[in-house]
This record gives sequence, C-alpha cells and structure tokens, in this order.
Amino acid sequence: MWGGVGAVFASWNGKRAIEYRRIEKIPHEWGTAVNVQAMVFGNMGDDCCTGVAFTRNPGNGENHFYGEYLVNAQGEDVVAGIRTPAPVNQYSKNAQSEQFVSLEKLMPAQYKELFTIQRRLEKHYKDMQDIEFTIEKGKLYMLQCRIGKRNGVAAVRMATEMHKEKLIDAKTAIMRVGPNQLVELLLPMLDPKAELLAPVIAKGLPAGPGGAKGRVVFSSADAVAWAAKGEKVILVREETSPEDVDGMHKAQAILTTKGGMTSHAALVARGWGKCCIVGCSDIEIHSEAKNFHSNNGLVIKEGDWISLNGTKGTVYEGSMALVDIDIDKNQSYKDLMKLVDKTKQIGVRANAETPRDATTAVKFGAEGIGLFRTEHMFYGEGSEAPLFQLRKMIVSKTEKERREALNGLFKYVKKDVKDTLSVMNGHPVTIRLLDPPLHEFVPHDKEKLKQLSKELGISMGMLNRRVLALHENNPMLGHRGVRLGISYPEITEMQVRAIFEAAAELNKAGKKAFPEIMVPVTVISHELRHQKEIVDRVYKEVCEKLGVKKIPYLYGTMIETPRAALRADFMANVADFFSFGTNDLTQMSFGFSRDDIGGFLPKYLDLKILPDDPFQTIDQEGIGQLIKAGTERGRVTKPNLKVGICGEHGGDPESVKFCHRIGMNYVSCSPFRVPIARLAAAQAALETPRKKK
Ligand code: PEP
Ligand code: MG
Repeated sequence: MWGGVGAVFASWNGKRAIEYRRIEKIPHEWGTAVNVQAMVFGNMGDDCCTGVAFTRNPGNGENHFYGEYLVNAQGEDVVAGIRTPAPVNQYSKNAQSEQFVSLEKLMPAQYKELFTIQRRLEKHYKDMQDIEFTIEKGKLYMLQCRIGKRNGVAAVRMATEMHKEKLIDAKTAIMRVGPNQLVELLLPMLDPKAELLAPVIAKGLPAGPGGAKGRVVFSSADAVAWAAKGEKVILVREETSPEDVDGMHKAQAILTTKGGMTSHAALVARGWGKCCIVGCSDIEIHSEAKNFHSNNGLVIKEGDWISLNGTKGTVYEGSMALVDIDIDKNQSYKDLMKLVDKTKQIGVRANAETPRDATTAVKFGAEGIGLFRTEHMFYGEGSEAPLFQLRKMIVSKTEKERREALNGLFKYVKKDVKDTLSVMNGHPVTIRLLDPPLHEFVPHDKEKLKQLSKELGISMGMLNRRVLALHENNPMLGHRGVRLGISYPEITEMQVRAIFEAAAELNKAGKKAFPEIMVPVTVISHELRHQKEIVDRVYKEVCEKLGVKKIPYLYGTMIETPRAALRADFMANVADFFSFGTNDLTQMSFGFSRDDIGGFLPKYLDLKILPDDPFQTIDQEGIGQLIKAGTERGRVTKPNLKVGICGEHGGDPESVKFCHRIGMNYVSCSPFRVPIARLAAAQAALETPRKKK
C-alpha cells in the first residue's frame, strides 16, 4: 500500500507530468493527492466489464453519451490501448469498433443505469464529465468522474448548447472556452488522429497556427515556380526577409530555423493566417545539397513531403490529412460571439493593409483597423510597379529626383488606402507612415542588383555606393520610422496627401472614411510637431483642391520606444491617440532582437529564466509598467486620449486582458486572431469589470 501511495506522489515529478504542466501552465508547486479506496473488478468473467465515457462527445461537442468499454478487463486495458475497446452504444461506433457489440445491447439494464447516472452527474457538475465505471458480476460501480477534456470545436458547442439548455449562464459559457481554442475553428488543422500516430521530427516556435502539408523547397523563387505548377509547397529557410514574401505567400506554410515569434516570417504568416514555425533549431539546412537534416539523423530532400502543426510547433515527415472548418456555418461559434460582444468592454481591431485583409478582418468581427503598415504594399506579390518606384526614390540623389519618384508612388498608396478605407466604411483605420529602414527595399544579391541598375538606368557602381550608404550596423535602431520622415519630409507629404485625398473623395461619394495618421518610432514630442506641420499644410491644400471644408481624421503616434512611454505626457500634447507598438517596445526595452531571439529563448524558457516569450505575451512586470505609465501619463495631459495596442501581443489572450485592466480603448491584432481577442476581452470584462462611465 505504501509503495502504491509513494508511486503516485513520485509520478508528479515524472518527465511527462512536468512537460504536461508546462504546456497547460499548471504550477509545479501544487503537488498531487492520493485517494485510497476499495477495488472492484471488471476482470472476473464475462459478466464483468470496465469502461471510460463522456457525457457529451469530446471530439465535436454533440450532446450524446459517448464511450468505450471492454468485457472481462481492468481500466488499464482500456486506456493503454492494448485491446480495441467496444462502443458503449450505437452512437459511439467508429470504423474500428463497428463490428463489436455495444454495452447497450450486451447489458441493457446496466447500460440504462449508467446512462441515468451520467445525466445526473452532468446536471450536478454543470459540465461535460469524463467518467470511469466498472461492472462486476452484473453490478455497476462508478469509479470516478471529472471535467472532461475537449477540443476547441467541442468546447464552443458545449458551452453555447449548455447555455441554451439553461444548464449554465452566459458568463459561464464565455469563461468555458479557452480563447486559443478558437484557433481550431478558424484554421485547417492536421487530422488529430493521424498526428497522434506520427513521430515528431523537429520542434520550433508555434508562430502561425493551424496545420499544413506540402513539398519542401528552399528558396522563395522555387516556392513561386513550384506553386505555379500547382504544387503545394512548404518554404524552408534559415530566416525570411521582405524579398521572400512572394514565395511565402505561395507556400502552404513556412518553416524557419532561426527567428522568434515576431520575426519577419512569424509576423507576415500570422497576418495571412498562414501556418508557420520559426526558430526550429532542431533542423539544419544544407542549401547546396538542397536538403535538411533533423536532430535524429533524418534527411529531408527538396520535393519531399512534410506536415506542420503551427499551433504546437511540431514538424512531421510525410503528407498528413488536413481537416477544414467553415466558420460561417458554425452556429455555436456565432452564438458564442453574440454573448462575447455583449460582454466585452474594450474594442478589437485588426492589423491589415489590403482591402482583402480588411474584408477578412470585418468577417471576423474587427471594429476598425489598428495598424495599416504602409510598407507592406511594397512587398512581394503584384507590387512590381510600386516596389520599382520606391527603389527609384531610394536611390535618388536630390530632393527633385526623390519627389519625381514619390509622384510615381502616390497613386498606388492612394488606391490601397482608399480601397481599405472604403471596406471599413467609417470605422477607424490607423495608417502608419513608412517605418522600415530603406535598405530593406533594395535587393542584396549581385544578380538582382545588376538587373535593378539596368532597370533604373544607373551604373552598378553608383547603385552599389547608394546601397552601401544605406547600410547600418543596427538597422532596427537606425534610420527608420519618423526619422525617415524628418530626413525626407517629402515622403511624409506624399503619404499624407494620399490619405487625405482618398478620405475626401470617399466622403464626397457619400461613403464614410475615418483615417488616423500614425507616426512610428517616435522618442520625443518635437518629432511629432515636425511631422504635424506637414500634415496641417497638406490638409489645407487637399481641402482647397477638392473643395471640402473638413476631412475627419486623427493624428497620433506609436509608443514603441521606452523614452516615448516615459515622456507620454509630452507626446500627448501633440497626439490625439497612442498605439503601443509592443514588438519594438519589447525589443528596445529588453534589448532582445526580435529577429534573433530564437537563438537563446528556448534555453531561457527551459531554465525558467523567463516565464514566457516576451514577444508573444506582454511581460506585464516590465514592459507592462511602461505601457501602464505611458497610458496614465498621456491621459494626465489628455483625459480622453484614445489608447490602443498594435504589436503582436494584441492577439494574445493574457495580453488582451492586461490591456483591458489598464483601461485601453482597443487592441489590434492580425485578422485571424480577432475572434480570439474578442473572447479574451469578454473574459477580462467578467473577471475585472470596468466601472461604467
Ligand atoms: C510594433 O513595433 O509593435 C509594431 C506594431 O510595429 P512593427 O512590428 O511594424 O515594427
Ligand atoms: Mg514597430
């Protein structure tokens, strides 16, 4: 007996238990308990059996008693999977158990009793129960019951149906679904059954959720070429850059060996709702040989199939089945979201920069766009023309040349802005002025440079000099954000003119447009004043040109440097709104490069030096203080200052809850995370309700 008790306690520190607690975020110090009780035996003959059942189907949430049993067996035989169990009833039959006799047929009286008891247990605990039972010599014994685990689809269905059945109230229904469980309803997944059987060949950071399968390619160009031939491909790279965007877009999924949760690959993929795993250091790419080696010695060649689970960060060999879910057809999801929207007290917007993304965002319930990254229209797909104009501007030597190139760009920017404003029809659209350092837009390999010099009609020598001049040792801390707008005011001018003209034309056509002009990477209010002068001047010019009296808009800034957060009271003198850019704020405050954190983060997490990836969930103790102070200080100057967040954290449930608690007006995240943020916002409102004003 003591041996048994000791074994249970010791199991708490087993490898699997520790791993499970880490995933489920169960504190290690909780410990476990031991129950000692009399045994009953399901293995005393053919009038005995044992089984495991659920009061509702944990795989899809259907309100049907669902379970398995084995005649003449003990519980361990059922769970260990040594024998194929039989279904408790007709409903529980599957392909493997089709031919077996159900418990309902074999022992009808006991089944009836079991059925009545499971109903009673669910009614008592007001949740789906996972129950274990034994029938010993014809007598039914209940061994245990507990809240049953369920997947996301089932969680949403059970919560809303139990609410309709009046078993639980709306509050409980909202709290029952884990925000991240919604991901399963929104994206295709690897078939869970197939996944269970396949060995994991490598593990990385789960940057873009969902599942995907495809044939391995190692360059963006190959991804594009193979996809054009109708192949499904997975782009495997050490890391990605804006030059890879075309290939990334054409690929089913992206797998990188470096980079963190806000690295280029992660951010872009998440925005598209694309499956992506980054920082997967378990594999090593051999570009020359066109293959990669996994830690366990497996070699995957170009063209081989692999499957990714971007929700868990796991990589599998071969082509695994995918399961798809159509959200519009899911009544339970719609019911849940109705309850959620009635409850939440913080707005949810999306980060989007094309009319298509904006449409997706609206479909997922976004109430506006919190971040329109202007530069994204210059990347990849179909942007040959604007990218060329932008490059022309970058290599310009004089203001005159630059202005000419900017004129060429103007119509593209205006069209993109206008179409997006139009889709959002009156909902706010926060348009950020150009942010990345200019070198990001020029090619870096020799062949492409040669081609560009031809297209631009300038010598290679001159182009090289210009590219060299743009080189920076720390580009993330370099000539980017508002610094570009101050060095080259004409860049700001072109963008602002495009925004005002787009908005004014829509307003004139009877549509509503509400742009919010946002200045990135500011550190001091003088920068905002400098840019505001340009905005004011262009505003007047556009009003005159188009004959309108007013173009509604707001002028604000990102708070993404520690200094801006600390001096928020001064920034608020010149800003109508703040949007916390927590990607850069985290990078600059920790001093961790958002693109290279993959190199050491796993070790930090393993050793529990950091509790979480700070680029994924807000470090509330440190970065959170900057955000809180920034919000409070800003509102000392302007009590009604609109405050939001547009870093990747805006779609992380714990971070959304934090933003709710400190009184932000909205969070903004990639379109596919909008439902997750809405649910987290509703849960935050139930946990810590704000006082109604
Ligand atoms: C940020 O820094 O949080 C942000 C949203 O801007 P970006 O990710 O484009 O740098
Ligand atoms: Mg930023």
